[in-house]
Amino acid sequence: MLTALTSQGKQVVLTRQTSLDSLREWRKTETFHCPQCKEQVLLKVGDIIIPHFAHHQQTNCRDSFSEGESPTHLLGKIQLYELFSQLQLQTEMEPYLPDIQQRPDLLVTWQNQQVPIEFQCSTIPIALILERNAGYHSINMQPIWILLTPPKIQDSSACVLTHRFSQFQQHFIRPIHSSTKETLTILLTYNPQKQQFHYVSHFIHLRGTSFAICHSVMRIKHQTIPFAIPAAPSTTDIEGLTRHYQSARRKYLRSVIGYNQRGIHHRFLRACYEMRVQPIQLPAWIGVPTFRQEAFSESDCEWQLLLVAAIRQTRRTPFQLDRSLIRTFVKTFEGDSTLQLEACEHYMDFLREQRIDIYRLDIFIGRDFTLEVLSGRFLAMHARN
Ligand SMILES: [Zn+2]
Repeated sequence: MLTALTSQGKQVVLTRQTSLDSLREWRKTETFHCPQCKEQVLLKVGDIIIPHFAHHQQTNCRDSFSEGESPTHLLGKIQLYELFSQLQLQTEMEPYLPDIQQRPDLLVTWQNQQVPIEFQCSTIPIALILERNAGYHSINMQPIWILLTPPKIQDSSACVLTHRFSQFQQHFIRPIHSSTKETLTILLTYNPQKQQFHYVSHFIHLRGTSFAICHSVMRIKHQTIPFAIPAAPSTTDIEGLTRHYQSARRKYLRSVIGYNQRGIHHRFLRACYEMRVQPIQLPAWIGVPTFRQEAFSESDCEWQLLLVAAIRQTRRTPFQLDRSLIRTFVKTFEGDSTLQLEACEHYMDFLREQRIDIYRLDIFIGRDFTLEVLSGRFLAMHARN
């Protein structure tokens, strides 16, 4: 921890303002105490470690207090504390909130609102995050979680990339609502070593935990309150997202043949077989990143082809569809049915708008819809933001 009380009860916050030597001198004459349990704590100062306070080994305080924080976590907390202080905001380091018995990393006051800031470096159970959020919400606080930048993103200079996000990381993807149906999704991450924020945004789901994403960097000294929001993707960014999407689509269609060896249980392959189409020859209107597609963990090719197959079985067209069919259809997938229902509706809209004949899989349509669909999604969103 970075805060303690002196013997006089004065609060100390360790930032980079104080030199290591003066801290070493200070601890000879002063005793420090844990703000929560009031036990005496050690001021640890070394040439490599970041100065911090620590309880003696025998303590009952550990449960409610984060001991053994990583240097990265300590460093990030100090830098964020300095950022908010420089922005002239009232900022508290590790304050104890007695009503909910929680201690956020930072508590920042802006526009008369107290906002807990959590800089999360390690993976902890999602249930714990939900619990902490519920605590904050119960006292009308809206916390902001900042994740430690994942190494592959930290090292990448690319504006568009493909990346896998764990369930834990995905939990922190935050929608920023706009007036349009499309929402801007962002994951706010911070890298203390380089002292910069890495924004991950405009998530396009590929398959499983893989996403094509836009990536942008902001030095901490340029950060503002409220936090800056990434700019609209440029035409080049949208072309980049399109390339990543198409490449993942092709890769999937090529690899799926391999499932054949494990029998025909794969329902995507069976549907291809029944419709007499080779996966790799799937028309371009199957496997399109229409709105809400991330509701399915499967590749867009897969759920969209299966949906088309389900409609064909009823001998109807997208124009004559009744919703009960889609409702039954989404029940065969894992995930949030309500969002999947929405995804299907948007895909149906697309088929209707393009006047696609779903009974003709053999008609070659030279044009690729990905760029068109993504441009439509993102340009509309930012235009009205
Ligand atoms: Zn304590």
